[in-house]
Amino acid sequence: MKQKLVLIGNGMAGMRTIDELLKLSPDKYDITVFGAEPHGNYNRIMLSPVLAGDKTIEQIIIHDLQWYQDKGISLHIGKTVTGIDRTNQIVITDDGYQANYDKLILATGSNPIILPLNGKDLEGVITFRDINDVNIMIETAKTHKKAVVIGGGLLGLEAANGLMMQGMDVSVVQRGSILMNQQLDQTTSDLLQTELEAKGMTFLIDYETAEFIGQGRVEKVRFSNGIEVESDLVVMAVGVRPNICLLYTSPSPRD
Ligand SMILES: Cc1cc2nc3c(=O)[nH]c(=O)nc-3n(C[C@H](O)[C@H](O)[C@H](O)COP(=O)(O)OP(=O)(O)OC[C@H]3O[C@@H](n4cnc5c(N)ncnc54)[C@H](O)[C@@H]3O)c2cc1C
Repeated sequence: MKQKLVLIGNGMAGMRTIDELLKLSPDKYDITVFGAEPHGNYNRIMLSPVLAGDKTIEQIIIHDLQWYQDKGISLHIGKTVTGIDRTNQIVITDDGYQANYDKLILATGSNPIILPLNGKDLEGVITFRDINDVNIMIETAKTHKKAVVIGGGLLGLEAANGLMMQGMDVSVVQRGSILMNQQLDQTTSDLLQTELEAKGMTFLIDYETAEFIGQGRVEKVRFSNGIEVESDLVVMAVGVRPNICLLYTSPSPRD
């Protein structure tokens, strides 16, 4: 009798684990995978080339839906696991579906940080984390011109570059004075900034975002220095937090 293995999180880490398990013991488990995103497993790192127009979504898929079928894996996409009953060894999804497990893997990744500012819920204020975000950016660029990217780290600069490739005028907001401050010092940051400005990127250095303004859709970003910048799209790239909420909502039987 096969053991039941459930994986929560159809991302790169979780699915790489399944790849390795299948190599080591292909027949040991009945495998069920839950993924909140409505896709097969894809290479998240390659979303930047997709945004820049160098790759398509199809080209960054690691395991398509047929692969799961071929491997006998039961895949539930577009379903979020909202609870774990550790006494009875059951996971429960947002639509009430339940699955039993003998072994459970949590590979729920991270969530992008959303600045808790006025206007954060306006249409056109997004993050850069998944296929949906990239699709919104590409579609917005077809009809709108002005974008503001908050965060001058690697991810923010990749978003800004991609949006420029899609034809938008992009301003990058950085709270400190150093771009990519985890990797660069002031001198190298200045060189990078000069290089990117030559390509048409605008920088708002030492700016602190205060609020997003608009009626339904974002129209402007206001900064703590009182300056306002027009914007049809705001992309927040200010870091991620580990997505560990299931650990807190699902106490162990011993707790
Ligand atoms: C544009 C971009 C570029 C990047 N570039 C680099 C890079 O160059 N180098 C690098 O090292 N890293 C890079 N990263 C970060 C890298 O993509 C992540 O570190 C990596 O994807 C983490 O993999 P993961 O499987 O742990 O989590 P994730 O990729 O976050 O996958 C977790 C999955 O679990 C799903 N999930 C979460 N909770 C539930 C739940 N309760 N029920 C069902 N499903 C759930 C999520 O929807 C998600 O699909 C980049 C990220 C982005 C967005």
